[in-house]
Amino acid sequence: MTFAVHGLPVARGIAIGRAVLVVSSRIDVAHYFIKPEEIETEIDRVRTARNAVADELIKLQANVAQMGPNDTPHELSALLEVHQMLLQDEVLTGGVKHWITERLYNAEWALTTQLEIIARQFDEMEDEYLRERKADLEQVVERLLHRMKGTAAVLAPSPPRRKRATSQDDENDDPTAGDGIDVPLVLIAHDLSPADMLQFKKSVFAGFVTDVGGRTSHTAIVARSMDIPAVVGARTASQLVRQDDWVIIDGDAGVVIVDPSPIILAEYGFKQRQGDLERGRLARLRHKPAVTLDGQRVELLANIEMPEDTLGAVKAGAVGVGLFRSEFLFMGRESTTGQTRLPDEEEQYQAYKRAVEGMQGMPVTIRTIDVGADKPLDGKSVNKQEHLNPALGLRAIRWSLADPAMFLTQLRAILRAAAHGEIHLLIPMLAHASEIRQTLSLIDFARTELDNRGAVHGQVKLGAMIEIPAAALTLHIFLKHFDFLSIGTNDLIQYTLAIDRADESVAHLYDPAHPAVLRLVADTIAECRRQGKGVAVCGEMAGDVAFTRLLLGLGLRSFSMHPSRILAVKQEVLRADTGKLEAWAKSVLESDDPAAAMAG
Ligand code: PEP
Ligand code: MG
Repeated sequence: MTFAVHGLPVARGIAIGRAVLVVSSRIDVAHYFIKPEEIETEIDRVRTARNAVADELIKLQANVAQMGPNDTPHELSALLEVHQMLLQDEVLTGGVKHWITERLYNAEWALTTQLEIIARQFDEMEDEYLRERKADLEQVVERLLHRMKGTAAVLAPSPPRRKRATSQDDENDDPTAGDGIDVPLVLIAHDLSPADMLQFKKSVFAGFVTDVGGRTSHTAIVARSMDIPAVVGARTASQLVRQDDWVIIDGDAGVVIVDPSPIILAEYGFKQRQGDLERGRLARLRHKPAVTLDGQRVELLANIEMPEDTLGAVKAGAVGVGLFRSEFLFMGRESTTGQTRLPDEEEQYQAYKRAVEGMQGMPVTIRTIDVGADKPLDGKSVNKQEHLNPALGLRAIRWSLADPAMFLTQLRAILRAAAHGEIHLLIPMLAHASEIRQTLSLIDFARTELDNRGAVHGQVKLGAMIEIPAAALTLHIFLKHFDFLSIGTNDLIQYTLAIDRADESVAHLYDPAHPAVLRLVADTIAECRRQGKGVAVCGEMAGDVAFTRLLLGLGLRSFSMHPSRILAVKQEVLRADTGKLEAWAKSVLESDDPAAAMAG
């Protein structure tokens, strides 16, 4: 039966494919695709773990028997029996094998996927006793997962062979059957950390949906960089969609359609082709300089997460990198023992050098590490008990200043990479003059360390992000010390309106067109221009065509965005006349309802 789930649109376009559910189990498991030649090894890992757990349960049962009826409730023995049966159950073992061989899931992913399928069947049972066996099944699977820990092969995701899925469910026939080989896959999850997203970035999902998240949550930002249709904040999607369901993701409307009828499929297939045509048209603008009708040159820069993203940036016609979110180099690096090993100076230096080389002589703006809040280092969501208010807590420059050794390592690596090309060093989340002072003296110290070592390093332009209202209101302090400013509208909106950008329940209040936000953005641009300093916007607003004309009218000439947004923004720039836009932008700024004024 067809039904729709509504969420927030975060990345445009239409994706049609089979659902791959990534379930969150009580044990954190890795999700990655194995190579076809690894299928046997992976099945073997499950078999070995099963045998070990079976032995464990037999031993436990023997102990229980020895203790005698007075020491242990007799239910315990019966329960262990049930666990043994569940462990050997064909639905569990056969299902796990299916996901490994047909979908190339790693063993842990296959196990949690099958657990979810059986658990849902238990939930639907009338009989209370049987319903309660779900907890037993979960315990058995947890035992298996514990046994498998440390036996995983490399965690690097490799793209799956895109093969036709053989559904376990006969009703679930392939509605687009015909080509017989390629079946697009779409990812459905309750939540995905930015580190998870990074892992999936290298795979072949055609789209994705999460239950939680706001439009500018970091998960949504990485999704946008993957340039695949995505919907976040879809609340119960991961409970309603079943493994292998056919799903349409409408990334423009923020709608997920499950089990679509042939008529709906045809309609969305048409929309998908229209989108492809539009992209084709925009691609022709790639080599065209971004100059307005009245001759104003506009700089369109790329936001990247990894050095390899520079390839896409150059391809999209970016004239530099306006924001390299360096924290992604630090994420998802747990070893099998759960330890996080941060990249050392040499590893970072090589990564920054690769980014510089990738941009072929164009400038690269490297932002120092911005972890914390919704970007935990280890990929697990931040424990709300530990950090009552993570967005207001120890993140970005606060984190760096709290760990000077880590910060100095990063600064040295960036300064060394600057010997290979033009690097701009950008500092996130500054608010206090004391933070500016500490940062600047650490940069000097990093230079001195390199000099003492005789290491080659280069000059950098220094920039600060304006993403806290306090910074936007004390620009004179910032402009005394920095060569340029970059407005991080994602956080500036979050902190101005007191809206957690990752929380879908307040997403409707997250308003880039709020007069207070626009006032701070406008004043920052105006003050930088007055003092002849560079100013850019690198938040999501820069890539949103609804704001291009307004930002141009406010005097902005430097926009940094995901490479996938560059051509659409360029089209707006080519059609704009900044002379005319100035007066209009002023009227929008003075309006009580800027969104309506922009539309009118
Ligand atoms: C911003 O806050 O607008 C920004 C660009 O930084 P991030 O999204 O990484 O916090
Ligand atoms: Mg920010």
